[in-house]
Amino acid sequence: MRSDTNQYSENILAGGLEAGGTRFNCVMGRGNGDIIARQTFPTTGPQETLARVANFFEQGISVHGPIQALGIAHFGPIEINRDAKNYGKILATTKAGWSHIDIVGYFSGIFDCPIAFQSDVNGAAIGEYHFGAAKDCDNFVYITVGTGIGGGVYVNGALLNDLGHPEIGHMLVPHDLAQDRFKGSCPYHGDCLEGLASGSAIKVRWGRPAEELEPDHPAWELEAQYLAILCVNLTYCYAPEKIIMGGGVMHQKHLFPLIRQYFMSKMQGYGPPFNATTIEKYIVPTRLEGDAATKGALILAHQAHVMSLK
Ligand code: ZN
Repeated sequence: MRSDTNQYSENILAGGLEAGGTRFNCVMGRGNGDIIARQTFPTTGPQETLARVANFFEQGISVHGPIQALGIAHFGPIEINRDAKNYGKILATTKAGWSHIDIVGYFSGIFDCPIAFQSDVNGAAIGEYHFGAAKDCDNFVYITVGTGIGGGVYVNGALLNDLGHPEIGHMLVPHDLAQDRFKGSCPYHGDCLEGLASGSAIKVRWGRPAEELEPDHPAWELEAQYLAILCVNLTYCYAPEKIIMGGGVMHQKHLFPLIRQYFMSKMQGYGPPFNATTIEKYIVPTRLEGDAATKGALILAHQAHVMSLK
């Protein structure tokens, strides 16, 4: 536990929600990140999905007592600036039926407690900072490669631009059409990074989801090259102490050595001097597996509780 949270009442009962594009992970727990109850279900339509979340917390409250704050780490794009007119809402999204849904409004109508609202990726970055692979550093980037690609950036122990959220997945990357003729799957940009290297892109390009592709499938060399380009760009933009990579696609652990290898060759020796030892501590997997964003949501709830006392 970081010193900046020690001063807070860590034992409050809190609700945490990781609202992902594929599934929702609900937890009840403590402000110190301990999880005492959880439920996961697939993301369907907003009415059904949000009702299931509310039902989970209502049942948990009947067993454990009232929650003192709720932290929500939600798939984007969302409005997280409290001063904005659309605060708490989902912005225009390609996810059918979810555009403009008022998430904070929905839950504040049910639960009488402070609510924190952040992007799912920033939520995961917060989890990694307090409990995971970034416990020992104040400057890092957390990347998730799943259905989409997203990233959260920590600078000097705080989220970068936590009034908006970065859209790292949509960065434009070199696309060698001679090597990779796939046009990309991003509805906005076609061949942005997400359009070329997300789990959705892998499925469209190869006709099978990432988890069904063998470790020696050519998909992985290509995937590693795109993710190495991402890491080079992040290194040159932010000079982080480490890059933490999670999400469903990164469950393929054989990707890490390939990404590091391509990263070293693409850097061409310009910038930080990495070697075989330091690179292994620089591009690293999440240590929290699926719990980075749920634990981050509990921290967010805790912070909202503390803010409400001021
Ligand atoms: Zn895009």
